[in-house]
Amino acid sequence: MNGSIRVGNLFGIPFYINVSWFIVLALMTLSYGGSLAAQFPQLGLGLPFLLGLIAALLLFASVLAHELGHSVVAIKQGINVKSISLFLFGGLASLDQEAKTPAGAFWIAIAGPLVSLFLFVGLTLMGSYLPLAAPLTALINLLAYVNLALAIFNLIPGLPLDGGNILKALIWKITGNQFKGIVFASRVGQGFGWLAILLGFLPLFAGGSINFWTILIGWFLLSNAGILAKDATLRNQLSQFTAEDALADNNSIVPQEISLRTFVNDYIIGKTATRQFLVTNEAGELVGQISGDDLKTIPTSQWPLIQVQTVMQPVEFSTTVDAKQPLLDVVTVLEQQQLNELPVVRNGVLVGLIEKASIRRLLEQRLQANPA
Ligand SMILES: [Zn+2]
Repeated sequence: MNGSIRVGNLFGIPFYINVSWFIVLALMTLSYGGSLAAQFPQLGLGLPFLLGLIAALLLFASVLAHELGHSVVAIKQGINVKSISLFLFGGLASLDQEAKTPAGAFWIAIAGPLVSLFLFVGLTLMGSYLPLAAPLTALINLLAYVNLALAIFNLIPGLPLDGGNILKALIWKITGNQFKGIVFASRVGQGFGWLAILLGFLPLFAGGSINFWTILIGWFLLSNAGILAKDATLRNQLSQFTAEDALADNNSIVPQEISLRTFVNDYIIGKTATRQFLVTNEAGELVGQISGDDLKTIPTSQWPLIQVQTVMQPVEFSTTVDAKQPLLDVVTVLEQQQLNELPVVRNGVLVGLIEKASIRRLLEQRLQANPA
């Protein structure tokens, strides 16, 4: 995340703090310290703000415990936790992949709120039964309340909140389609986002001033849920295809034994984009690649006499894709390796190239065929 500082590891998970967090820390220290100073004048001036700072730090420890709850359950399912970050709106445990089953997703999602509820109960009992000085009891009760609020807020059933992930798991279980779950829970999340924005502006009509914080949270929900919905819609479309559905036109494969003259006549002249062509042997296996540029140093008079295999370059692709491989996996490979194209192979025989552009064309055609 932008503006985040790595502060170390927590149980082997990289731990980041966003700069916005320090602003919140300072504001909380001042506001809680100020209220303690007013409530307990006997504490003097410095002590309330020290307690305020401790309260603010414990509050973030509560957020951290919540995120660790998600993380521990994810790790138990064999999912790697990339990082835990604290930022303006709380915390985020970033997983490197989604749960494999709806039940798995459910348990990861609910683990955080369960930790918060557990802390709420524990702190409430401490506040009620431990014989502590009044300011300390006030601090413990505040923390108990914060953990309860954390659990309830996160259980709002719209993505990107935990409750949204629980809803996603439920829809996933019912429909058998993970992406439908995400899209549905994101739409609900967008709904809550709009609701929060509306509630934030509402006091304006009663002669009051807008609630900036509520609007900010609403905007946060709205934009994040929107991104999730868009991404899941795309992945849902991709999941219905295999690699061979999105092949670029077959003219990208050139037999090694044809002459350069034939290659230029049949593959380059009159064709739009100049790009790499894949060269195959008689068995149809990928043996090299060639582009129009490779011919520049060879006199035109020589073209009918030289075969493609003499001029072709070694293949740069380290990865090939099987024709039956799900398109979603292909897109993941393209993104991870930052490639624009990949050769597609069926039973060892090259069948064509898959390109980012050809995938985009496939999806556009499909959208035109049956508009959502
Ligand atoms: Zn959570």
